[in-house]
Amino acid sequence: MFRAQTVHRAHFDPAEVQISTLLSIKTGGCPEDCAYCPQSARYDTGVRAEKLMALDAVLAEARAAKAAGASRFCMGAAWREPKDRDLDAVCAMVEGVKSLGLETCATLGMLGADQARRLKGSGLDYYNHNLDTSPEFYGDIITTRTYDDRLQTLAHVRDAGIHVCCGGIVGMGETREDRVGMIATLANLPQHPESVPINMLVRVAGTPLADEPKFDPLEFVRTVAIARITMPRSVVRLSAGREDMSEETQALCFLAGANSIFYGPKLLTTPNPGRDRDRELMVRLGMVPMEP
Ligand code: SF4
Repeated sequence: MFRAQTVHRAHFDPAEVQISTLLSIKTGGCPEDCAYCPQSARYDTGVRAEKLMALDAVLAEARAAKAAGASRFCMGAAWREPKDRDLDAVCAMVEGVKSLGLETCATLGMLGADQARRLKGSGLDYYNHNLDTSPEFYGDIITTRTYDDRLQTLAHVRDAGIHVCCGGIVGMGETREDRVGMIATLANLPQHPESVPINMLVRVAGTPLADEPKFDPLEFVRTVAIARITMPRSVVRLSAGREDMSEETQALCFLAGANSIFYGPKLLTTPNPGRDRDRELMVRLGMVPMEP
């Protein structure tokens, strides 16, 4: 913790938190089999497959997010990879969100080199594509795409000049060595991801990981600390799982070097602390939003 705080303070103002809002622009019905995910069509989780949202509706959500203090607006779609006609629609959303003065981020599944260049051309600032876990444990969680597929998408994103948002999930039954392996893989990418989301598994009924035991919060804090120490200039984001975390655990995560959160009552399809609760926590911890 001391090392993590020392590293954090050398590169960031420890009182500042980057605030992102995440909107599911295309929910459910995903053909992939990620064992943690309520949006996979393979699991009976009660999430209904929906069509891609209309541009106007996305822009209305982006305006509301900006008014609530978000600096970045992330759009997530439950696809294996975007089809070309879907990409046209997403590019229009990126252009629209960007014109509101927000940073833009998208998470759409695997991308080809050309698709990454098109997204960059529309003004996309960040692309999220997580490694999820260590290379060794990966096959226990996903079988429909390989670890190398993921690294390939990350390379296309990087080559297109888009900032990389890439992290993983803890609490899926992996060992500490797997957590180390995930962080080591991230920290040994050709360039550190600008943004590193560390998620705590949300155990959703109907998914294969629904009955995983609750993960030790202090081990979560330690994972955040290791991400901070090994990727000193990356923004480390507390992502999924905050709803289940005590305020004290979140405070420890900020002390361990986390400096970003998702803001808003919903994270794709799972609950997240409400804006008022977050605002109050920020005030109590003496923390302020980071300027874009
Ligand atoms: S994590 Fe993404 S790719 Fe995997 S099942 Fe869920 S929506 Fe599909």
